[in-house]
Order: sequence, then structure tokens, then C-alpha cells
Amino acid sequence: MGETARPLAGLDGDALLRAWERAGAIDPALRGAAVLSVALPDLPVAAERLPVGCRDTLLLALRVGTFGAPLTAVADCPACGEAAEVEADGAALLAALPAPDPVGEPPDPVEVDGWRVAFRLADTLDLAAAARCADAEEAAALLVQRCLGVVTRNDVPSAQEPPPDVLAAVSARMEQADPAADLRLRTTCPACGACWSAGLDVAEFLWVELAAAAVGLLLEVDALAARYGWAEREIVAMSPLRRRTYLDLS
Ligand SMILES: [Zn+2]
Repeated sequence: MGETARPLAGLDGDALLRAWERAGAIDPALRGAAVLSVALPDLPVAAERLPVGCRDTLLLALRVGTFGAPLTAVADCPACGEAAEVEADGAALLAALPAPDPVGEPPDPVEVDGWRVAFRLADTLDLAAAARCADAEEAAALLVQRCLGVVTRNDVPSAQEPPPDVLAAVSARMEQADPAADLRLRTTCPACGACWSAGLDVAEFLWVELAAAAVGLLLEVDALAARYGWAEREIVAMSPLRRRTYLDLS
């Protein structure tokens, strides 16, 4: 593997509040991309068009930069149903992922039975569309359909949709080509000892933390503004340590 992913600079107070406002007002499926668009305004492509693995690697990098490396998630044990705490080191997770490439080349086409099917990796808009499907099967089919590129059969361009087994091969290759889109944490159930790998929805995970941090920051603004009469902008621009120190003075 080449270069690996690294933490990003953390969100400052102002960016944190802007990310929270922007992401809180939209479809939850778009939140991760909305947070990235605030954190990384100079991305070469719109955040919602980043391949999901690239998006999630950047979100994890932003999470480690903003809230630190240790992370604790809660997952239900598939064996006994007990809710188990899953602890992970976000920096180690990042170091195991390839460096995100927002303008990466599309993967090689899939070639099966005379079909040659070009495809791109799924992005946030694809996932949001799939999330509106009635069931998982329909969602998986829509995801592949949306990502198909040029299709040829025996070297002749085909307007016909490839048969299900070819689409299944494309779907499998889409997943293989974007492993960071399915981040997993190895864990052991404290109740029954079962080992499994829990999926980490990094966009949702970061959103919950970010919303809590934004509300916490506004509570500090409220308390300091009431006590000292300072403007919101001034209070938000202070370091967290300085705000806490003022709040601890009585
Ligand atoms: Zn268990």
C-alpha cells in the first residue's frame, strides 16, 4: 500500500457551529458530506460526489483531528443481543487506510461473458437515493444502476442493461474497490465472548459528537455572554481552555 491516511486539522469553534447548522438542516444521509464541505471548502469535487470510502476516510481524519483518536461506539452483539461498548483507536484505523484521493481514477471495468461494464464508485448522493428505496434489494439494484458507465457487449456499445449476474459482479467489485466505505471494528462481547466486526458509520458517529459539542459550545457562549457581555464571535474564537477557565471563576 502507498501513503496512508492521516488526521486532518480539527474544526475550530466557528467551523464547528457552521458544520452543525448546515448538516442539521438537511437529509441525514447528506450530513457527512455537508460537514466535509465546511471543513474542507477547497475540495476539488463537491463533497457529496466523493466516493463514500474517500468521504469516510476524510470524516475519520476530521474526527481524530477535532475530538482525538480514542473512540467508543456501542454495538449490539449478534450472538446474544447485549449492547457492547466497542473501543477503537481512530489514528490506528486511519493509518490502515489508503490516503484519500478525491480525484482518483475510476476502477477498471468488469469483464464477464463478453460484457464489459465501466462503473464508478458510489457517492453520498447514490447512498441517499438508495436509502429512499422500499427494501435492501431494490436499494442495491439502484446503487449499481446509478454507477454504471459505458457498457459494451462483444465490443459493441449496448443500450441494454447487463444481466443480473453481471450486475452482481459489478456490485461486488464496487465494494472491493472502495474498502474504506465499510469501516469495521473488531470486538468481543463482554457478556458471551463472541467475536465479531461491528460496522462503524463514521458520518453518523461524528455527527452525534459534533451536535453535542456545538450545543455545549453555545451553552458556554450563553454563560459567558451573560456574565461578561462579550459578543458570541469573541467567545467562540477563544480556545476551549480559556472559556473553561473563565467559566470556572466564580
Ligand atoms: Zn454476546
